[in-house]
Amino acid sequence: MLRRTVLTSLAASVATPAFGDGYPDRPITLVVPFSAGGPTDLLARVMGERMGKELGQQFIIDNTTGAAGSIGVGKVVRAAPDGYTISIGHLGTHVANGTLYKNLSYDLLTDLVPITRLPSNPLLVVTSNAVPTKSLKELVDYLKANPDKISGGTAGVGSGSHLGALAFFAATGAKYQLVPYRGTGPAVQDLIANQIQVMVDQSSNSLPHVRAGKIRAYAVTAKTRSAAMADIPTAAEAGYPMEVAIWHGLWAPKGTPPDIVAKLNAAAIATLQDPAIKARMEDLGQDLPTSAEMAPAAFGAFHRAEFAKWKKILEDADVKVE
Ligand code: ASP
Repeated sequence: MLRRTVLTSLAASVATPAFGDGYPDRPITLVVPFSAGGPTDLLARVMGERMGKELGQQFIIDNTTGAAGSIGVGKVVRAAPDGYTISIGHLGTHVANGTLYKNLSYDLLTDLVPITRLPSNPLLVVTSNAVPTKSLKELVDYLKANPDKISGGTAGVGSGSHLGALAFFAATGAKYQLVPYRGTGPAVQDLIANQIQVMVDQSSNSLPHVRAGKIRAYAVTAKTRSAAMADIPTAAEAGYPMEVAIWHGLWAPKGTPPDIVAKLNAAAIATLQDPAIKARMEDLGQDLPTSAEMAPAAFGAFHRAEFAKWKKILEDADVKVE
């Protein structure tokens, strides 16, 4: 009898903890689906370092590249839904790829749960310094006159830089050969070396090289000029309106407990409220989401709306994955 009473009260005192209690008690893997040194990798490292401090555990960056990011995203979809393996990605990896890659083995809207929205980045039309043009109009004329000589880098069909190239083709009527890389980090190095001549690349990747005089910028794909690059005209000002912003986000595998998602979300919000991090991102031309936009449900609704919008754009553009 006594034994049973002791056991009953013991059981009551160790009542089942909520799933997220004690989380995280080991490092968290953040899968970056593009090369190290590129814009997604940069954002992941900045977020991971500060989120790790908030949560008291290290973030390990895992660059799993290929197929415009869809291999790395698949790795997270298949991971245990325990908050220890999460996905960073963007408009390309978590939206465009869902329409473009017909044999994708997962559903981007239902096999992942949203953690938070992250900064959005306009694209810059940039060339190597060897290209003998100074304005967007001159560049377009040059491309039209030299259609086979010019190559442009992308991070694969469906990546942000590919969506940028498509917007460029549609707005200008000019074309260039597309060379796929595993991320625009290595691509921009080849642009500096004039192995490729053009990119429509996230400002966080290209702006430091523009400032250093290693490549030339022609236009930003945003409605208004950015304070971080006030001397660079909008594409509309330069004569060819195009607006593309590559927003980013964090996701976890479907089934991840909501209290774990809430902890990750709170750490991400605290990170983007850090004045030093905010200033660093804004200096690279990034627009930061509000805390309300970062809430998981708000981000989930935004993701679904973007998915529907881009499905139509990409189907109308009839983009083929080679
Ligand atoms: N975000 C990619 C990267 O980090 C590039 C892209 O989407 O164009 O390399």
